[in-house]
Amino acid sequence: MKNKKPDIDEERTAELDLPELQVIAGKGDSEHFFCIPIPTKAHPVCPRCGNSAARNQGKIRRNYYHVIPRGEKSNLVTISLEFRKHKCLASNCGCVYYPKFSFVSPYARTTRKLADVIVGLHIPQGIDDPLSFTEISEQFSGKISPQVVRQIYLRRLSELEAGLSDVPAWYREIQENELHYSSSDLPDSDMSQPEEAITRYYQDIELLHSHCKNASIDSTY
Ligand SMILES: [Zn+2]
Repeated sequence: MKNKKPDIDEERTAELDLPELQVIAGKGDSEHFFCIPIPTKAHPVCPRCGNSAARNQGKIRRNYYHVIPRGEKSNLVTISLEFRKHKCLASNCGCVYYPKFSFVSPYARTTRKLADVIVGLHIPQGIDDPLSFTEISEQFSGKISPQVVRQIYLRRLSELEAGLSDVPAWYREIQENELHYSSSDLPDSDMSQPEEAITRYYQDIELLHSHCKNASIDSTY
C-alpha cells in the first residue's frame, strides 16, 4: 500500500519562505510548522562512494529553529521536517545518508536564515546598536541560550568567511563598506583565541552528532 501524500498548506509554505520545503496542511500552528521536502526527481547518490543504488531506510523527523518576519518582529518558529534516509547498497560501503538541504548547515538545528538574523543583530550596522548574545537570546524569549546564540553566530560567520554558502546581500554590503568583520575581531571576552574557539566548536558539533546517532534522538518510524 502506498502512503497517501499529505495536503500542502500553500499559504503557510509561502510564509515559511524556504524553497526546499512544503508545509503540511492541518498540523501545527503559527509557531510550529510540520514540513516535507519538495519532491525532486534527482536520484539519491551516496555521498561517500558516489553509488546510486540505495535502499529506502524509512523516514526520520528532525526539528529546526527558524525565523519568520511578522510586522516589525522576527518570530522564532519550529520546523518539524520529515524526510527519507537511504542506505548505500555498494558492498564495501553501506553508508546511511540523508538528503542535503541548503536552508541549513550540516548538523545544524537552526536555519541559515535564523543564523543570518543573529549575525545581523550582533554586528554593528548603520545606526542600530548591536545586541549582545544575551540580548539576542532574550529577544527569542530565551528559547535559544546566549551560549547557543554565540555558537550559531560563530558558525555562520566562519561559513561566510570560508565561502561555504551563498553570501547574503547584507554581508556583501558590510564587506563593501569595509566594515569587514573577521573572526579575529570577535567581541567576546573569552575570544582571545578565536581560531581555537571555532575549531573547538566544530569538535563539539562532531561530538554532538555522534552522540545523537548513538542515542538515536532522530526517531525512526
Ligand atoms: Zn556508498
